[in-house]
Amino acid sequence: MTPFEQIKLHIKKATENLKLTDAETATLLKPDRVLEKTLSVETRKGKEELKAFRVQFNNARGPYKGGIRFHSAADLAEVEALAAAMAIKCAVVGIPFGGAKGGVTIDPKTYDRNEIEKIARAYVGAFFEHLGSDKDIPAPDVYTNPEIMAFMLDEYEQLAGHSEPGMITGKPLSLYGSKGRDSATATGGAIVLASYLKAVGKKDKQTVAVQGFGNAGGTVAKLLHNAGLCIVALSDSQGTLYRKDGLDPYAIDEAKQKGGAVTSLYCEGSVCDAEALAKDGAEVFPPEHVLSVPCDILVPAALDNVITKENASEVKAKIILELANNPVTPEADELLKKREVKVIPDVLGNAGGVTVSYFEWVQNRSGYYWDDAEVGSKLKEIMEDAFLNVYQYSLSKEIPLRAAAYEIGVDRIIEAMRLRGRV
Ligand code: NAD
Repeated sequence: MTPFEQIKLHIKKATENLKLTDAETATLLKPDRVLEKTLSVETRKGKEELKAFRVQFNNARGPYKGGIRFHSAADLAEVEALAAAMAIKCAVVGIPFGGAKGGVTIDPKTYDRNEIEKIARAYVGAFFEHLGSDKDIPAPDVYTNPEIMAFMLDEYEQLAGHSEPGMITGKPLSLYGSKGRDSATATGGAIVLASYLKAVGKKDKQTVAVQGFGNAGGTVAKLLHNAGLCIVALSDSQGTLYRKDGLDPYAIDEAKQKGGAVTSLYCEGSVCDAEALAKDGAEVFPPEHVLSVPCDILVPAALDNVITKENASEVKAKIILELANNPVTPEADELLKKREVKVIPDVLGNAGGVTVSYFEWVQNRSGYYWDDAEVGSKLKEIMEDAFLNVYQYSLSKEIPLRAAAYEIGVDRIIEAMRLRGRV
């Protein structure tokens, strides 16, 4: 099943439960606009023709919003899926945006900074007429970053002939970015998790395993550690580090910065210091082992489709917080449901990122910039409200949190579409 088919499945289930007509469902599932362009860019390899996409899924609730990824596997099906999920995510947290996503099919590691800048500028040139702070607002995604957003903003403003910082978010702080944006996804996830634990009355010290130690995973591990939870496992593409009595994510981060892996505290490449591991009661395993360590909470924060029908029965956690997009396949979702494993879905769990992007857009439009405390308190309010809404809906309908989030999201989008006479 492609990512788009997976997300379509979640949306379709919601439309059935909400008793939408077939015509309404068909209109909802059809992206408003699928844009495909070829970027001609002069690189060290000569004149290259690169495939680029922008899918504008739905703007009934506000301007299209969604990141741009630079990845060799970026294709139309993936970008469509992520655009649909963005529309649902913005609706679930109640921010006034629709959904979009973009991509360029390149291996970004094979280009230097100068070439990446050319590709970023070419992307904006190709899609210029469709972008803008009231039309479609991109942001960083896989292998794009604040610096690339700055190139894109500059290109857009040169073409438009005026200043318009709200046309893109995730910008550097020195070029109209927002405080708190870099940690927003993890902070939002940690707020939702704390709300969930409070709602279900879990007061004992919870143990946590985090897959991925990048922006989302590394930050959430530190936030949960600071909040008093016990981080028993951390992983990256090279391995899993497990310690029953808990790991210090700050020490792991320092070791990873020097040695390149979460296991660097004990290992150099694949050679580990068995004595030091035994002395500390720590163990090293292959990367995928993080999914099956004994723990209360599992946080997939790296890749999509990592929990599948093949390995769902090995998950020992009773709660899964999805920080990555699409980490659990629909088949695995069913198996986890049978085992009463509660999944906090990506459209709620990682929505902190787009919520602070919304704050950035608001600040850009007003020209008045907020401090960390203001961003933090507003994020907390939105995430707690969104969680309670989804949680209470799931209790009242006796359905999982994912189904509840999708029903709330779809209902809000369809209501806006009805009011606009689109369905
Ligand atoms: P990142 O590139 O900063 O980090 C990814 C991490 O995953 C790295 O530590 C990498 O080593 C690790 N990884 C790669 N392969 C792995 C494997 N096989 N096993 C374990 N770890 C592996 O990316 P990020 O920004 O942290 O994003 C992670 C996920 O969160 C993605 O699915 C992304 O779409 C999602 N997400 C991120 C944000 C955000 O604001 N950063 C927002 C929404 C969703």
